Amino acid sequence: MKINEHFLNLKDSYLFATVGKKTAEYKKAHPDREVIRLSIGDVTRPLAPVVIEAMHKAVDDMSRTETFKGYGPDQTCYGYDQLLDSILGSYARKGVTLSKSEVFVSDGAKSDCGNILDLFSAENTVLLPDPVYPAYADANVMAGRKIVYADANEQNGFLPMPDDSVRADLVYICSPNNPTGAAYTREQLKAWIAYAKKQDAVILYDAAYEYFISDPALCRSIYEVEDAKDCAIEICSYSKTAGFTGVRCGYTIVPEALVRGGASLNRLWARRQSTKFNGVSYITQMGAAAVFTEEGEKQIGENIACYKKNAKIIADCLDRLGIWYAGGKNSPYIWLKCPNGMGSWEFFDYLLENANVVGTPGCGFGKNGEGYFRLTAFGTEENTRKACERIAALLK
Ligand code: PLP
Repeated sequence: MKINEHFLNLKDSYLFATVGKKTAEYKKAHPDREVIRLSIGDVTRPLAPVVIEAMHKAVDDMSRTETFKGYGPDQTCYGYDQLLDSILGSYARKGVTLSKSEVFVSDGAKSDCGNILDLFSAENTVLLPDPVYPAYADANVMAGRKIVYADANEQNGFLPMPDDSVRADLVYICSPNNPTGAAYTREQLKAWIAYAKKQDAVILYDAAYEYFISDPALCRSIYEVEDAKDCAIEICSYSKTAGFTGVRCGYTIVPEALVRGGASLNRLWARRQSTKFNGVSYITQMGAAAVFTEEGEKQIGENIACYKKNAKIIADCLDRLGIWYAGGKNSPYIWLKCPNGMGSWEFFDYLLENANVVGTPGCGFGKNGEGYFRLTAFGTEENTRKACERIAALLK
């Protein structure tokens, strides 16, 4: 019996484990100090009232024979009409027309960022940015796929642009980006679409943070850019949009126009999902369907505005200190250059010991992350302000 030996090529994911271990050790040694975590990529605000109300109602539906639901509808890969309609409505407001058959409800973006690879040969080459959300790289290592990197750095504002001399079949783009917070403009996305077409490549566009965008020059969906439907799959999530990290729901768009090797990727994905997936619970789907209603968008907008206020508090603090950063405006992440030439882990230790603030070392996201550091806006306003006061006192 042989295992999939590609798994043996995975690097240990020591980043968050080491952050947790170092923080716990510091707290044990200094039980009287209050440590503030600006490292978390998880939300802290509760679900919007419309979502809770819809989920309660769905629970009641499950209690009566007439309204009880078993498996979801086969013909839409288990997506209920209420949810599909609300997703189509959200796209229509961005000027994008989709049909229900192009929307696949999922249990979140992370699963689909990896599962979508089932459609593509392991002989393909995948292009990733560096630094990168680690799940993209690991999912491709597991399949034994060749990975090439596009360097993101201070010179390109952590937004690498395509290089026609680099061969790729699959291209992951995450905008607004985790970890850097940088977001592509429409013009920049046009260049990536042109590259994909020349290469006959497919873009896997992760829009998990789209609801943090307020700048009209930026796109919330890659389909806002002309001619993207025949070269891009879009992977979306309710996690950061609506605080669903613990509820689990997302959706992936595989356009009907997307054909590779003579096959419809939409049909292949429908076949894959109906074989290896059995849908998202009715209760979750009804909660998610409430997110893109008028009242739902207002309520999630209030939560996002709170996180964005935190991001601005951090960004203003860095501006006053003259520290270079990306993100923070259309993103919950702030990606800063470690002051005084410090390395990522050196700055982590310095901040933990002298300001009792925890962030995430950039080097954990790729070689170009060395010397950079990620702070997040997902904490409370009180803690964010307090952390920034401490950082300002330390670095002034
Ligand atoms: N994609 C990116 C870029 C993320 O940062 C995250 C979570 O942090 C995810 C996907 C995972 O989203 P989900 O909770 O929907 O699986």
